[in-house]
Amino acid sequence: MTKFEIRGVRADVLIGAEERQEILKGVDLTINSGETHAIMGPNGSGKSTLAYAIAGHPRYEITDGEVLLDGENVLEMSVDERARAGLFLAMQYPVEVPGVSMSNFLRSSVTAVRGEAPKLRTFSKELQEAMGNLSIDSSFASRGVNEGFSGGEKKRHEILQLELLKPRMAILDETDSGLDVDALKVVSAGINRARESGEVGVMLITHYTRILNYVQADHVHVFAGGRIAASGGPELADTLESEGYERFAKAAAK
Ligand code: ADP
Ligand code: MG
Ligand code: MG
Repeated sequence: MTKFEIRGVRADVLIGAEERQEILKGVDLTINSGETHAIMGPNGSGKSTLAYAIAGHPRYEITDGEVLLDGENVLEMSVDERARAGLFLAMQYPVEVPGVSMSNFLRSSVTAVRGEAPKLRTFSKELQEAMGNLSIDSSFASRGVNEGFSGGEKKRHEILQLELLKPRMAILDETDSGLDVDALKVVSAGINRARESGEVGVMLITHYTRILNYVQADHVHVFAGGRIAASGGPELADTLESEGYERFAKAAAK
């Protein structure tokens, strides 16, 4: 079993050469493999900052606390080492790489993470199966990486990577944004498969409660004012749906 721990994390966003602003003000969260945790919060509450800070994005600096994957200090690892250790961060992947086909890109990613190139034929089979699971057209494999992808295709691609890379911990930021209902269902089913494998922990960052109609979440956390303001089960999402974030945002501002 894998345990992913965020302990007392504070982080600044670096705005210019001189300017910085503290966004994360002490985040504590533990996610075990086989669990999906939804992080929900209003725009600007710092959800993406949490994801970027853990990913090691240069514009964000963790000033206090620690992030551990099975006791190993993630923050001391290079971005590549984080991936090899089994941390999957959807947004760390290239936005657009013209001239490199999806199948080549995915095989390189799998090779980098596993430390060994999968046999071409085995990989093609794996890829086709994963694409089938996500209702991705077979022509997708020969297209350039993210070249001219629609919002929905980019999100399916993220989940395709999740299926192929088989990480221990996955952080998905706004996986549901810009998806129509059909794409939302397909993407959600992929996230549920990851959970059911029991081998991956999922941190699902989202602004909208609607994805929780499809994704099975074990825990729901409300993010407000740079920290987790409330935690509960899936019923907390229903409270958010009816009451909104305001109450939590006000309490966090005190
Ligand atoms: P969320 O994902 O919850 O919408 P973000 O983490 O994107 O929130 O943003 C949190 C706060 O940090 C916001 O006030 C945002 O304006 C600020 N912020 C984030 N990134 C930057 C940046 N690169 N430059 C300046 N401000 C930023
Ligand atoms: Mg935002
Ligand atoms: Mg965000």
